[in-house]
Amino acid sequence: MIAGIKETAELIKSAQYVTAFTGAGISVESGIPPFRGENGLWNRYNPEFLEISYFRNYPEKSWKLIKEIFYDYFGQAEPNRAHRVLARMEAEGILESIITQNIDNLHQMAGSKKVFEFHGHSRTLICTECGRETAASVQKLETLPPRCSHCGGLLKPMFVFFGEGIPEQAAQDSYQAARTSDVFLIIGSTGEIMPASMIPAYARENGARIIEVNIEPSNYTHTVTDLFLQGKATEIMNQLAVELGI
Ligand code: NAD
Repeated sequence: MIAGIKETAELIKSAQYVTAFTGAGISVESGIPPFRGENGLWNRYNPEFLEISYFRNYPEKSWKLIKEIFYDYFGQAEPNRAHRVLARMEAEGILESIITQNIDNLHQMAGSKKVFEFHGHSRTLICTECGRETAASVQKLETLPPRCSHCGGLLKPMFVFFGEGIPEQAAQDSYQAARTSDVFLIIGSTGEIMPASMIPAYARENGARIIEVNIEPSNYTHTVTDLFLQGKATEIMNQLAVELGI
């Protein structure tokens, strides 16, 4: 057994408010690569296509990659054991909420209900002119860039581009959850993306015990983390589920 699993289970069992904070690492075993690192998307693509100014100036070029990566490719992914264990923990009443930086919808697909999407999501497209929203599932992405059926304005996925602010409600909900937590579980996040990277510190200010799951140490490991569980998210979360008896 991986060191720290038993202690983690005990902490979770005796906690009042447990929050999970997830990054790209939790979805790697669902076949979605992270942005950074050895197999990261930024080794294959220039990230400029996700800059809001580039998107406005070159919507067709930007959308070509958005469609290829976030809809054709990410769209095939299924939740893995780590997503499912979190959903089960919530159903059992031992996990209060999830704050995710991911935009892939895999927590919801696994059955999680209370998910704060700090960087938005890819389920919906929003018109940059009239603000009308369209489900991505009904919008045909045959002609790019996609246009609003109401006013003809440019449609944009409802996830946060570089240079955009964090959705207000998601930010408020996330900060509130962190500040209420007494156990805070970080799974697969480098801690390099501001302002999301600050969230675990808010939990720590509240006195929360910080448990981290990652294949390698991150920016959190030697700063806020109390208990570092090294390994793949699916393996660690599977062992945790066994230890929690769920
Ligand atoms: P990140 O901060 O999300 O880091 C990924 C982390 O996951 C790294 O620390 C890595 O060591 C760890 N990791 C990799 N495989 C793992 C595994 N099997 N189990 C546990 N941990 C594992 O960094 P990023 O990828 O640069 O992402 C930047 C931003 O973009 C974040 O907000 C991220 O959530 C988002 N993003 C989202 C998706 C998605 O929706 N699935 C994919 C890529 C990036």
